Amino acid sequence: MSKNVVIIGGGIIGLCSAYYLQKEGHQVTIVDQSNLDEGASYVNAGYLSPSHLIPLSAPGVMRKGIKWMFNPSSPLYIKPRLDLDFLRWTWAFNKSCTVKHVKKAIPVIKEITLISQDLYRDIRQKENFSFHFEDKGLLMLCKTEKMLEDEVEVARIAKQEGLDVSEISLEELKKLEPNVKLDVKGATYYKCDSHMTPHEFMSDMKLHLKQNGVHFFINEKVEDIELKGNKIFSIKTNKQIITADEFVLSAGSWSNLLSQKLGLKILLQAGKGYRINTKNPTSITIPAILAEAKVAVTPMNGFTRFAGTMEIAEINHNINKVRVEAISNAATRYYPEIHLTTQEKEGVACGLRPVSPDGLPYIGKSSTCKNLTIATGHAMMGLSMGTATGMLVSEIISEKKPSLNLVPFHPDRKF
Ligand SMILES: Cc1cc2nc3c(=O)[nH]c(=O)nc-3n(C[C@H](O)[C@H](O)[C@H](O)COP(=O)(O)OP(=O)(O)OC[C@H]3O[C@@H](n4cnc5c(N)ncnc54)[C@H](O)[C@@H]3O)c2cc1C
Repeated sequence: MSKNVVIIGGGIIGLCSAYYLQKEGHQVTIVDQSNLDEGASYVNAGYLSPSHLIPLSAPGVMRKGIKWMFNPSSPLYIKPRLDLDFLRWTWAFNKSCTVKHVKKAIPVIKEITLISQDLYRDIRQKENFSFHFEDKGLLMLCKTEKMLEDEVEVARIAKQEGLDVSEISLEELKKLEPNVKLDVKGATYYKCDSHMTPHEFMSDMKLHLKQNGVHFFINEKVEDIELKGNKIFSIKTNKQIITADEFVLSAGSWSNLLSQKLGLKILLQAGKGYRINTKNPTSITIPAILAEAKVAVTPMNGFTRFAGTMEIAEINHNINKVRVEAISNAATRYYPEIHLTTQEKEGVACGLRPVSPDGLPYIGKSSTCKNLTIATGHAMMGLSMGTATGMLVSEIISEKKPSLNLVPFHPDRKF
């Protein structure tokens, strides 16, 4: 049965949900407070990475986070605050930093990322999209023996899970990147990963959705939600009131602010990250993570992107120049011939990752609101999990059997 569906938030999750909902024959409207050309879904590193099997909430991360609080150029920064939402999130995050949780999360992350990767290929072919997409894998570049040992161990786990990954020698690395000077001790190579130029995918998808009857209300902020019984009756934007049969909450880092209007308590924090682009030729052909610095390097269409940092410090788009400098310095430490220019650094942009406490997204209906599907909390993996999330949202609203077990993603789950 065709339904009227309103999607709040048109980032990667909102657009992918619209795509599958429209294919199922629903009438779809996307409402977004932005111009739909900025934020996390545009500034990300473009990885479709089954390799990122280990959730952010892993043993030792909290300890590292506390140590890094005092280092202004650290890749992870958690700003301490006396705010109840933040304290609840921190408590739940800390509780999830266990070996048991990591073991449970690994197969879940693997499944949703592998399905998503296939769905991107499928959409690209079926819809004749032209966005840049490559299957070049991902290098984990290590400067120290200790980090290499850790990464070899992660690679062993990934291999056990059936992913195509191996440790490679410096000679093999030279063969893979013959025109790039690297100063590293060693690397692991995940052949299973893909990458893309994210704004190209977003443009292709927005055009496709418009051509197929999806309505867009852009620069329009959802300010309130009206409930009737245990269902949403309408949403109020700064311009109008919109009614619908079903609603999707995919407002990224802002999702918990809206969910509070419904009395829901989704634990979510914004994790800010930065990207610096260079159009100067770098000769880099394979995406890489600079393992100690936690900087992602991606050869995109016509430029190379350096992305990094996770600043959990409320919703804002302030640029912290010390962290921008840290990303740029890391680039030169690993690739001694690459020097990002002042102009490139001034062109930095940031985005907010919606970070759940256990490294898994929220996908599903909350028991307290019958016509609301929540799809958020993808943290560092929103692109990698985007298409499968959209498919699941459509299956939920169409009352079809979901392609994946939704229990690990349940918005009401306890931590
Ligand atoms: C530097 C960086 C690098 C990253 N690299 C990768 C990567 O390589 N691979 C990967 O998989 N992921 C990566 N990520 C994570 C990924 O980008 C995010 O998980 C993903 O973009 C989140 O998508 P989203 O649709 O949930 O949120 P968003 O893209 O933030 O979209 C949410 C939308 O909701 C709208 N909105 C919010 N509130 C309202 C309101 N009240 N009314 C109307 N509209 C509203 C916003 O305007 C926004 O457009 C990276 C992120 C960053 C910052």
